[in-house]
Amino acid sequence: MRAAVLERPGEPLQLRKLPLATPGAGQVLLRVRACGVCRTDLHIADGELTEPKLPLVLGHEIVGEVVGVGEGVNTLAEGDRVGVPWLGWTCGACRYCKRGQENLCARARFTGYTLDGGFAEYTVADARYVFPLPDAYGDVAAAPLLCAGLIGYRTYRLAQEAVGYPLRRIGLYGFGAAAHLLCQLAVADGLEVYAFTREGDTAGQAFALRLGAVWAGGSTERPPETLDAALLFAPVGPLIVEALKSVDKGGAVVSGGIHMSDVPAFPYRLLWEERMICSVANLERRDGDEFLARASDVPIETVTTAYALEEANKALSDLREGRIEGAAVLVP
Ligand SMILES: [Zn+2]
Ligand SMILES: [Zn+2]
Repeated sequence: MRAAVLERPGEPLQLRKLPLATPGAGQVLLRVRACGVCRTDLHIADGELTEPKLPLVLGHEIVGEVVGVGEGVNTLAEGDRVGVPWLGWTCGACRYCKRGQENLCARARFTGYTLDGGFAEYTVADARYVFPLPDAYGDVAAAPLLCAGLIGYRTYRLAQEAVGYPLRRIGLYGFGAAAHLLCQLAVADGLEVYAFTREGDTAGQAFALRLGAVWAGGSTERPPETLDAALLFAPVGPLIVEALKSVDKGGAVVSGGIHMSDVPAFPYRLLWEERMICSVANLERRDGDEFLARASDVPIETVTTAYALEEANKALSDLREGRIEGAAVLVP
């Protein structure tokens, strides 16, 4: 099979021929129909996440068709279409797993990071960690749901739990793959969405308004109303401080990213009055089940740009430069 392989962080991916994997016990072999490109792939390729398996096949937003079934798998059959997310395996035995926080598992394995992912023609996945996908979404349209959608949803859920009252106004900082999906879900829930983009990104602001945001502006602007929560999807530490300035008393700033530049020092008065700052790490399978059920009910428009497998490096550089509206998706 052909795959785009990361041999060393900091170097471009190499198109290689790899032997086709055989599904082990509990696994399925998938023909990759589409695989989304996520900012986390950039952090891995650039060496900002420091423990990848090497060489590595990136990609953790995989839409695949089951073409082989390993021993003991009775929940899936050849021909089924499934989605593979970032969380690829957990131990079930560590203290985090035992208390229902599989996203924090001490021995977790992650698709496209410590397990080979979907920038390839085929991949294998643990059958317990894949999701059936709503029929309403084509292969390319479904790919961004699997990380951008799921992590956006988890960030939204944790913001809701952090504040402890029904959210009415939320701010989305960084209006890319995750925010453009979550915006539509939050609008369907009756919330007011305030979108924050790079300064001067009028195209991004128009995109947010088209998807139902009530206001869009630059990330250092103050919204016309204070926010119940601010959700961050850009890897820019100073945004934590900007977001704190825009949230109401008792409000939360929740960061959905896996990596961020340093957060600058800020005066305590910005945190005072029970404002909260927290992060989201990985996902639980529950997030996938809940989010995909919502995505089945609420038609979410996924705005995508498709690339061939050979164009994986171009997709990564377009994402790095902010040249993509919505989400990039590789189609092997
Ligand atoms: Zn565990
Ligand atoms: Zn991701």
